[in-house]
Amino acid sequence: MSNSSKIYDFVVVGAGIAGSCTAYFLSKKTKNILIVDKNSTFTNGASGAAGAFLNPILGKPNDFKDLVTKALEFSVDFYSLNLSNLTNFSEFISTSGTLRVATDDEDFEKFCSYEEFIDFDYEKRDEGYFFPIGSMVNATKVCETLLENINQKYDYEVKTLQKKDDFWLINDEIKTKNIVLTTGANIKLIEEEYVNIRPVWGQKINVLTSTKTDFNYHKECSISVSTAYNDKYKLSIGATHNRFKDDMSDTLYNLDLKDINDTQPNQKTMDIVNSDTKKLIDLANDIIKLDDIEIIDFKIGARAASFDYFPIVGKLVDSKKTIENHPHILNGSHIKKDKLSMIDNLYIINGVGGRGYVLSPYLAKVLVESIFDGVELNENISSHRLFRRWAKRLKGKNR
Ligand SMILES: Cc1cc2nc3c(=O)[nH]c(=O)nc-3n(C[C@H](O)[C@H](O)[C@H](O)COP(=O)(O)OP(=O)(O)OC[C@H]3O[C@@H](n4cnc5c(N)ncnc54)[C@H](O)[C@@H]3O)c2cc1C
Repeated sequence: MSNSSKIYDFVVVGAGIAGSCTAYFLSKKTKNILIVDKNSTFTNGASGAAGAFLNPILGKPNDFKDLVTKALEFSVDFYSLNLSNLTNFSEFISTSGTLRVATDDEDFEKFCSYEEFIDFDYEKRDEGYFFPIGSMVNATKVCETLLENINQKYDYEVKTLQKKDDFWLINDEIKTKNIVLTTGANIKLIEEEYVNIRPVWGQKINVLTSTKTDFNYHKECSISVSTAYNDKYKLSIGATHNRFKDDMSDTLYNLDLKDINDTQPNQKTMDIVNSDTKKLIDLANDIIKLDDIEIIDFKIGARAASFDYFPIVGKLVDSKKTIENHPHILNGSHIKKDKLSMIDNLYIINGVGGRGYVLSPYLAKVLVESIFDGVELNENISSHRLFRRWAKRLKGKNR
Protein backbone atom coordinates (compact mmCIF):
# COMPACT_ATOMS: atom_id res chain seq x y z
CA MET A 1 0.00 0.00 0.00
CA SER A 2 1.46 3.38 -0.91
CA ASN A 3 1.75 5.95 1.84
CA SER A 4 -0.95 8.22 0.42
CA SER A 5 -3.50 5.40 0.38
CA LYS A 6 -2.72 4.20 3.89
CA ILE A 7 -5.65 4.57 6.25
CA TYR A 8 -5.08 4.26 9.97
CA ASP A 9 -7.74 2.77 12.21
CA PHE A 10 -7.01 5.47 14.82
CA VAL A 11 -4.97 8.63 14.99
CA VAL A 12 -4.54 9.99 18.51
CA VAL A 13 -3.75 13.72 18.57
CA GLY A 14 -1.73 14.72 21.65
CA ALA A 15 0.98 12.63 23.31
CA GLY A 16 0.44 13.55 26.95
CA ILE A 17 -0.69 11.06 29.57
CA ALA A 18 -4.28 11.01 28.19
CA GLY A 19 -3.12 10.30 24.61
CA SER A 20 -0.47 7.79 25.67
CA CYS A 21 -2.96 5.78 27.75
CA THR A 22 -5.50 5.94 24.92
CA ALA A 23 -2.99 4.70 22.35
CA TYR A 24 -1.93 1.92 24.74
CA PHE A 25 -5.47 0.59 25.27
CA LEU A 26 -6.32 0.98 21.57
CA SER A 27 -3.21 -1.04 20.71
CA LYS A 28 -4.76 -4.03 22.47
CA LYS A 29 -7.46 -3.94 19.78
CA THR A 30 -5.58 -2.84 16.64
CA LYS A 31 -1.98 -2.15 15.72
CA ASN A 32 -2.93 0.29 12.99
CA ILE A 33 -2.57 3.39 15.17
CA LEU A 34 -0.61 6.62 14.94
CA ILE A 35 -0.07 9.16 17.71
CA VAL A 36 0.98 12.69 16.75
CA ASP A 37 2.06 15.73 18.72
CA LYS A 38 3.17 19.21 17.79
CA ASN A 39 5.96 18.97 20.36
CA SER A 40 9.23 17.27 19.56
CA THR A 41 8.49 14.35 21.89
CA PHE A 42 5.84 12.92 24.25
CA THR A 43 5.00 14.50 27.65
CA ASN A 44 6.11 17.97 26.62
CA GLY A 45 2.74 19.55 27.46
CA ALA A 46 1.10 19.65 30.91
CA SER A 47 2.05 16.01 31.39
CA GLY A 48 5.72 16.95 31.56
CA ALA A 49 5.15 19.79 34.01
CA ALA A 50 3.06 17.73 36.41
CA GLY A 51 4.34 16.50 39.72
CA ALA A 52 2.37 13.41 38.68
CA PHE A 53 1.14 12.62 42.18
CA LEU A 54 -1.69 10.16 42.71
CA ASN A 55 -3.74 11.13 45.76
CA PRO A 56 -7.18 10.22 47.08
CA ILE A 57 -9.90 12.82 47.72
CA LEU A 58 -10.90 13.61 51.29
CA GLY A 59 -14.54 14.63 51.46
CA LYS A 60 -18.17 13.65 51.58
CA PRO A 61 -19.40 11.08 49.08
CA ASN A 62 -20.26 12.48 45.67
CA ASP A 63 -20.02 11.36 42.05
CA PHE A 64 -16.69 13.07 41.44
CA LYS A 65 -15.09 11.49 44.50
CA ASP A 66 -16.44 8.10 43.39
CA LEU A 67 -14.85 8.57 39.98
CA VAL A 68 -11.48 9.56 41.47
CA THR A 69 -11.57 6.62 43.90
CA LYS A 70 -12.31 4.14 41.11
CA ALA A 71 -9.66 5.70 38.88
CA LEU A 72 -7.05 5.82 41.66
CA GLU A 73 -7.49 2.13 42.49
CA PHE A 74 -7.19 1.31 38.81
CA SER A 75 -4.25 3.61 38.06
CA VAL A 76 -2.04 2.52 40.94
CA ASP A 77 -2.37 -1.10 39.82
CA PHE A 78 -1.94 -0.10 36.20
CA TYR A 79 1.32 1.78 36.77
CA SER A 80 2.76 -0.75 39.19
CA LEU A 81 1.61 -4.06 37.71
CA ASN A 82 0.55 -3.77 34.07
CA LEU A 83 3.46 -1.70 32.91
CA SER A 84 6.27 -3.61 34.45
CA ASN A 85 7.21 -6.87 35.96
CA LEU A 86 7.23 -6.83 39.73
CA THR A 87 10.98 -6.44 40.02
CA ASN A 88 11.20 -3.02 38.42
CA PHE A 89 7.88 -1.31 39.09
CA SER A 90 9.64 1.39 41.10
CA GLU A 91 10.89 2.78 37.78
CA PHE A 92 7.30 3.79 37.00
CA ILE A 93 5.78 4.69 40.34
CA SER A 94 7.03 5.47 43.82
CA THR A 95 4.57 4.44 46.49
CA SER A 96 5.83 6.24 49.57
CA GLY A 97 2.43 7.57 50.68
CA THR A 98 1.10 11.11 50.92
CA LEU A 99 0.39 13.23 53.97
CA ARG A 100 -2.63 15.41 53.30
CA VAL A 101 -1.97 18.41 55.57
CA ALA A 102 -4.80 20.53 57.02
CA THR A 103 -4.48 24.30 56.55
CA ASP A 104 -5.68 25.14 60.09
CA ASP A 105 -7.67 23.75 63.04
CA GLU A 106 -10.95 24.32 61.27
CA ASP A 107 -9.69 22.44 58.22
CA PHE A 108 -8.49 19.63 60.48
CA GLU A 109 -11.97 19.40 62.04
CA LYS A 110 -13.40 19.16 58.55
CA PHE A 111 -10.99 16.35 57.68
CA CYS A 112 -12.09 14.50 60.84
CA SER A 113 -15.73 14.82 59.83
CA TYR A 114 -14.88 13.07 56.54
CA GLU A 115 -13.26 10.12 58.30
CA GLU A 116 -16.22 7.80 57.82
CA PHE A 117 -16.13 8.47 54.07
CA ILE A 118 -12.44 7.74 53.50
CA ASP A 119 -12.12 5.11 50.76
CA PHE A 120 -8.53 4.02 51.45
CA ASP A 121 -6.36 2.95 54.38
CA TYR A 122 -5.10 5.95 56.38
CA GLU A 123 -3.31 7.01 59.53
CA LYS A 124 -4.42 10.07 61.45
CA ARG A 125 -1.48 12.34 62.31
CA ASP A 126 -1.13 15.68 64.09
CA GLU A 127 -0.97 17.61 60.81
CA GLY A 128 -3.60 15.70 58.85
CA TYR A 129 -4.15 12.29 57.27
CA PHE A 130 -1.52 10.00 55.84
CA PHE A 131 -2.52 7.80 52.90
CA PRO A 132 -0.16 4.89 52.13
CA ILE A 133 -1.67 4.69 48.61
CA GLY A 134 -0.37 8.21 47.79
CA SER A 135 2.15 7.82 44.97
CA MET A 136 4.18 9.61 42.36
CA VAL A 137 4.57 8.56 38.74
CA ASN A 138 7.66 8.83 36.56
CA ALA A 139 5.84 10.61 33.73
CA THR A 140 8.44 10.23 30.99
CA LYS A 141 9.14 6.58 31.71
CA VAL A 142 5.43 5.74 31.85
CA CYS A 143 4.57 7.43 28.55
CA GLU A 144 7.66 6.05 26.82
CA THR A 145 6.59 2.53 27.85
CA LEU A 146 2.94 3.05 26.92
CA LEU A 147 3.97 4.20 23.45
CA GLU A 148 6.66 1.54 22.91
CA ASN A 149 4.77 -0.32 20.18
CA ILE A 150 2.85 2.61 18.72
CA ASN A 151 3.68 4.58 15.53
CA GLN A 152 4.65 8.08 16.67
CA LYS A 153 5.01 11.33 14.77
CA TYR A 154 6.34 14.49 16.45
CA ASP A 155 6.81 18.12 15.41
CA TYR A 156 3.44 17.63 13.76
CA GLU A 157 0.70 20.10 14.51
CA VAL A 158 -2.79 19.10 13.44
CA LYS A 159 -4.36 22.16 11.87
CA THR A 160 -7.34 20.76 9.99
CA LEU A 161 -9.67 17.82 10.34
CA GLN A 162 -11.98 17.05 7.44
CA LYS A 163 -14.60 14.34 7.39
CA LYS A 164 -14.66 12.52 4.06
CA ASP A 165 -17.10 9.68 3.27
CA ASP A 166 -15.64 6.95 5.42
CA PHE A 167 -12.45 8.48 6.83
CA TRP A 168 -11.00 11.63 8.33
CA LEU A 169 -8.35 13.64 6.55
CA ILE A 170 -5.81 15.33 8.81
CA ASN A 171 -3.96 18.36 7.39
CA ASP A 172 -4.96 17.18 3.90
CA GLU A 173 -2.53 14.25 4.17
CA ILE A 174 -3.13 11.67 6.91
CA LYS A 175 -6.15 9.40 6.51
CA THR A 176 -7.76 7.64 9.43
CA LYS A 177 -11.06 5.95 10.17
CA ASN A 178 -11.16 7.37 13.69
CA ILE A 179 -9.61 10.24 15.60
CA VAL A 180 -9.13 10.63 19.34
CA LEU A 181 -8.36 14.18 20.45
CA THR A 182 -6.30 14.29 23.63
CA THR A 183 -4.99 17.81 23.19
CA GLY A 184 -5.25 18.93 26.82
CA ALA A 185 -5.91 22.60 27.46
CA ASN A 186 -5.56 23.41 23.76
CA ILE A 187 -9.06 22.81 22.38
CA LYS A 188 -8.69 24.65 19.07
CA LEU A 189 -9.55 21.51 17.09
CA ILE A 190 -12.86 21.12 18.91
CA GLU A 191 -15.39 23.23 17.13
CA GLU A 192 -18.21 22.65 19.60
CA GLU A 193 -18.89 25.77 21.68
CA TYR A 194 -20.21 23.85 24.68
CA VAL A 195 -16.82 22.23 25.32
CA ASN A 196 -15.82 24.75 27.90
CA ILE A 197 -12.26 23.88 28.90
CA ARG A 198 -10.02 26.52 30.43
CA PRO A 199 -6.29 26.43 30.99
CA VAL A 200 -5.05 26.81 34.55
CA TRP A 201 -1.30 27.33 34.47
CA GLY A 202 1.13 26.16 37.08
CA GLN A 203 4.68 25.27 37.76
CA LYS A 204 6.81 22.48 39.07
CA ILE A 205 10.24 23.23 40.49
CA ASN A 206 12.93 20.68 41.21
CA VAL A 207 15.12 21.69 44.13
CA LEU A 208 18.08 20.48 46.12
CA THR A 209 17.77 20.84 49.88
CA SER A 210 19.47 19.54 52.99
CA THR A 211 16.04 18.43 54.27
CA LYS A 212 14.98 14.85 53.66
CA THR A 213 11.32 14.06 52.99
CA ASP A 214 10.18 10.47 53.56
CA PHE A 215 6.87 10.73 51.71
CA ASN A 216 4.82 13.17 49.63
CA TYR A 217 2.94 16.09 51.16
CA HIS A 218 -0.13 17.86 49.87
CA LYS A 219 -1.58 21.10 51.18
CA GLU A 220 -1.75 24.19 48.93
CA CYS A 221 1.10 22.73 46.93
CA SER A 222 2.54 19.24 46.61
CA ILE A 223 6.01 18.22 47.78
CA SER A 224 7.51 14.93 46.68
CA VAL A 225 9.45 12.33 48.62
CA SER A 226 13.16 13.15 48.26
CA THR A 227 15.95 11.15 46.69
CA ALA A 228 19.58 11.43 47.77
CA TYR A 229 21.62 13.63 45.40
CA ASN A 230 25.32 14.15 46.10
CA ASP A 231 25.38 15.42 49.68
CA LYS A 232 21.84 16.83 49.45
CA TYR A 233 18.29 15.69 48.66
CA LYS A 234 16.35 16.30 45.48
CA LEU A 235 12.60 16.83 45.48
CA SER A 236 9.89 18.58 43.49
CA ILE A 237 7.27 21.13 44.47
CA GLY A 238 4.29 21.94 42.29
CA ALA A 239 0.93 23.64 42.07
CA THR A 240 -1.43 25.11 39.46
CA HIS A 241 -3.13 28.42 40.21
CA ASN A 242 -2.78 30.88 37.33
CA ARG A 243 -5.92 31.63 35.32
CA PHE A 244 -4.60 34.42 33.12
CA LYS A 245 -7.10 37.02 31.97
CA ASP A 246 -4.60 39.12 30.02
CA ASP A 247 -3.26 38.27 26.58
CA MET A 248 -0.27 35.98 27.19
CA SER A 249 0.56 35.30 23.54
CA ASP A 250 3.91 37.12 23.88
CA THR A 251 5.05 34.72 26.62
CA LEU A 252 5.59 31.00 26.99
CA TYR A 253 2.17 30.88 28.65
CA ASN A 254 0.78 30.44 25.16
CA LEU A 255 -0.81 27.12 24.31
CA ASP A 256 -0.16 27.57 20.61
CA LEU A 257 3.58 27.34 21.07
CA LYS A 258 5.47 24.06 21.02
CA ASP A 259 8.11 22.77 23.43
CA ILE A 260 7.59 25.67 25.81
CA ASN A 261 9.91 24.23 28.40
CA ASP A 262 12.76 23.88 25.90
CA THR A 263 12.44 27.47 24.69
CA GLN A 264 14.29 30.46 26.09
CA PRO A 265 11.78 32.39 28.25
CA ASN A 266 11.45 36.16 27.80
CA GLN A 267 11.41 38.62 30.70
CA LYS A 268 7.61 38.67 31.02
CA THR A 269 7.59 34.87 31.33
CA MET A 270 10.48 34.90 33.81
CA ASP A 271 8.74 37.50 35.99
CA ILE A 272 5.82 35.11 36.43
CA VAL A 273 8.10 32.09 36.85
CA ASN A 274 10.12 33.90 39.55
CA SER A 275 7.05 35.06 41.38
CA ASP A 276 5.53 31.54 41.24
CA THR A 277 8.81 30.00 42.41
CA LYS A 278 8.78 32.26 45.45
CA LYS A 279 5.14 31.38 46.15
CA LEU A 280 5.85 27.66 45.79
CA ILE A 281 8.76 27.81 48.21
CA ASP A 282 6.67 29.75 50.73
CA LEU A 283 3.83 27.23 50.40
CA ALA A 284 6.26 24.33 50.75
CA ASN A 285 7.91 25.85 53.83
CA ASP A 286 4.48 26.20 55.35
CA ILE A 287 4.26 22.39 55.18
CA ILE A 288 7.81 21.41 56.12
CA LYS A 289 10.84 23.65 56.57
CA LEU A 290 13.16 23.00 53.64
CA ASP A 291 16.71 24.13 54.42
CA ASP A 292 19.42 25.34 52.00
CA ILE A 293 17.15 25.31 48.98
CA GLU A 294 18.77 25.48 45.55
CA ILE A 295 16.47 25.52 42.52
CA ILE A 296 17.74 23.27 39.76
CA ASP A 297 14.99 23.55 37.18
CA PHE A 298 11.39 24.53 36.57
CA LYS A 299 8.64 23.54 34.17
CA ILE A 300 5.43 25.35 33.37
CA GLY A 301 2.23 23.81 32.04
CA ALA A 302 -1.52 24.28 31.82
CA ARG A 303 -3.99 21.78 33.15
CA ALA A 304 -7.31 21.54 31.33
CA ALA A 305 -10.08 22.56 33.71
CA SER A 306 -13.71 21.75 32.93
CA PHE A 307 -16.21 23.94 34.74
CA ASP A 308 -17.82 21.05 36.68
CA TYR A 309 -14.50 19.24 37.39
CA PHE A 310 -15.60 16.11 35.53
CA PRO A 311 -13.58 15.01 32.51
CA ILE A 312 -15.12 14.73 29.04
CA VAL A 313 -14.84 11.34 27.41
CA GLY A 314 -16.24 9.79 24.23
CA LYS A 315 -18.04 11.18 21.23
CA LEU A 316 -19.08 14.80 20.98
CA VAL A 317 -22.67 15.90 20.50
CA ASP A 318 -23.06 17.58 17.11
CA SER A 319 -24.79 20.73 18.36
CA LYS A 320 -25.76 22.09 14.94
CA LYS A 321 -27.40 18.87 13.77
CA THR A 322 -29.09 18.25 17.09
CA ILE A 323 -30.61 21.74 17.16
CA GLU A 324 -31.68 21.47 13.51
CA ASN A 325 -33.48 18.19 14.22
CA HIS A 326 -34.89 19.25 17.58
CA PRO A 327 -35.34 23.04 17.59
CA HIS A 328 -37.54 22.81 20.70
CA ILE A 329 -34.28 22.49 22.70
CA LEU A 330 -33.93 26.23 22.26
CA ASN A 331 -37.10 26.68 24.35
CA GLY A 332 -35.30 25.02 27.20
CA SER A 333 -36.95 21.60 26.87
CA HIS A 334 -35.10 18.41 27.74
CA ILE A 335 -33.77 16.13 25.04
CA LYS A 336 -33.31 12.41 25.52
CA LYS A 337 -29.90 10.86 24.99
CA ASP A 338 -30.98 8.82 21.96
CA LYS A 339 -32.19 11.97 20.19
CA LEU A 340 -28.79 13.68 20.32
CA SER A 341 -26.83 13.63 17.04
CA MET A 342 -23.25 12.63 17.67
CA ILE A 343 -20.11 13.27 15.61
CA ASP A 344 -19.13 9.83 14.40
CA ASN A 345 -15.62 8.40 14.58
CA LEU A 346 -14.30 11.32 16.60
CA TYR A 347 -13.62 10.87 20.31
CA ILE A 348 -12.03 12.91 23.04
CA ILE A 349 -10.54 12.59 26.50
CA ASN A 350 -10.17 16.01 28.03
CA GLY A 351 -10.78 18.01 31.20
CA VAL A 352 -8.71 15.70 33.39
CA GLY A 353 -7.75 18.81 35.38
CA GLY A 354 -5.27 18.44 38.22
CA ARG A 355 -5.68 14.65 38.24
CA GLY A 356 -4.54 13.65 34.78
CA TYR A 357 -2.28 10.89 36.09
CA VAL A 358 -5.03 9.48 38.27
CA LEU A 359 -7.82 9.65 35.71
CA SER A 360 -6.20 8.96 32.32
CA PRO A 361 -5.50 5.19 32.55
CA TYR A 362 -9.04 4.52 33.76
CA LEU A 363 -10.71 6.88 31.27
CA ALA A 364 -8.69 5.50 28.36
CA LYS A 365 -9.74 1.99 29.34
CA VAL A 366 -13.45 2.88 29.52
CA LEU A 367 -13.26 4.86 26.27
CA VAL A 368 -11.76 1.89 24.41
CA GLU A 369 -14.36 -0.46 25.96
CA SER A 370 -17.10 1.88 24.79
CA ILE A 371 -15.73 1.99 21.24
CA PHE A 372 -15.04 -1.72 20.81
CA ASP A 373 -17.43 -3.46 23.19
CA GLY A 374 -20.31 -0.98 23.28
CA VAL A 375 -19.96 -0.47 27.05
CA GLU A 376 -21.90 2.68 27.85
CA LEU A 377 -19.98 5.63 29.29
CA ASN A 378 -21.23 7.18 32.49
CA GLU A 379 -23.39 10.24 31.82
CA ASN A 380 -21.20 12.30 34.22
CA ILE A 381 -18.24 12.11 31.86
CA SER A 382 -20.10 12.30 28.55
CA SER A 383 -20.40 15.40 26.38
CA HIS A 384 -24.22 15.23 26.79
CA ARG A 385 -24.19 17.06 30.09
CA LEU A 386 -22.19 19.95 28.66
CA PHE A 387 -24.34 20.19 25.57
CA ARG A 388 -27.58 20.16 27.60
CA ARG A 389 -26.41 22.90 29.96
CA TRP A 390 -25.17 24.99 27.06
CA ALA A 391 -28.41 24.50 25.09
CA LYS A 392 -30.48 25.54 28.13
CA ARG A 393 -28.59 28.79 28.31
CA LEU A 394 -29.45 29.51 24.66
CA LYS A 395 -33.13 29.89 25.58
CA GLY A 396 -34.45 33.18 24.23
CA LYS A 397 -31.15 34.08 22.55
CA ASN A 398 -31.15 34.72 18.80
CA ARG A 399 -28.67 32.47 17.07
C1 LIG B 1 2.36 22.25 37.53
C2 LIG B 1 1.41 21.13 37.36
C3 LIG B 1 1.30 20.15 38.35
C4 LIG B 1 0.41 19.09 38.18
N1 LIG B 1 0.38 18.10 39.12
C5 LIG B 1 -0.37 16.99 38.90
C6 LIG B 1 -0.32 15.91 39.80
O1 LIG B 1 0.41 15.92 40.78
N2 LIG B 1 -1.08 14.81 39.54
C7 LIG B 1 -1.88 14.73 38.44
O2 LIG B 1 -2.55 13.70 38.24
N3 LIG B 1 -1.94 15.77 37.57
C8 LIG B 1 -1.23 16.89 37.79
N4 LIG B 1 -1.28 17.93 36.93
C9 LIG B 1 -2.26 17.86 35.84
C10 LIG B 1 -1.74 17.02 34.71
O3 LIG B 1 -0.52 17.56 34.28
C11 LIG B 1 -2.74 17.05 33.56
O4 LIG B 1 -4.01 16.67 34.02
C12 LIG B 1 -2.33 16.07 32.47
O5 LIG B 1 -0.98 16.20 32.17
C13 LIG B 1 -3.15 16.34 31.23
O6 LIG B 1 -2.75 15.43 30.27
P1 LIG B 1 -3.25 15.57 28.78
O7 LIG B 1 -2.66 14.43 28.05
O8 LIG B 1 -4.73 15.74 28.76
O9 LIG B 1 -2.67 16.96 28.28
P2 LIG B 1 -1.18 17.40 27.85
O10 LIG B 1 -0.16 16.71 28.65
O11 LIG B 1 -1.16 18.88 27.85
O12 LIG B 1 -1.06 16.83 26.39
C14 LIG B 1 -1.74 17.40 25.30
C15 LIG B 1 -0.81 17.31 24.12
O13 LIG B 1 -1.55 17.67 22.95
C16 LIG B 1 -0.66 18.32 22.07
N5 LIG B 1 -1.45 19.09 21.11
C17 LIG B 1 -2.39 20.04 21.38
N6 LIG B 1 -2.93 20.51 20.23
C18 LIG B 1 -2.30 19.83 19.22
C19 LIG B 1 -2.43 19.88 17.80
N7 LIG B 1 -3.31 20.69 17.20
N8 LIG B 1 -1.64 19.07 17.06
C20 LIG B 1 -0.74 18.22 17.66
N9 LIG B 1 -0.59 18.15 19.00
C21 LIG B 1 -1.38 18.94 19.77
C22 LIG B 1 0.18 19.20 22.98
O14 LIG B 1 1.40 19.53 22.33
C23 LIG B 1 0.36 18.29 24.20
O15 LIG B 1 1.57 17.57 24.13
C24 LIG B 1 -0.43 19.02 37.05
C25 LIG B 1 -0.34 20.01 36.07
C26 LIG B 1 0.58 21.04 36.21
C27 LIG B 1 0.66 22.07 35.12
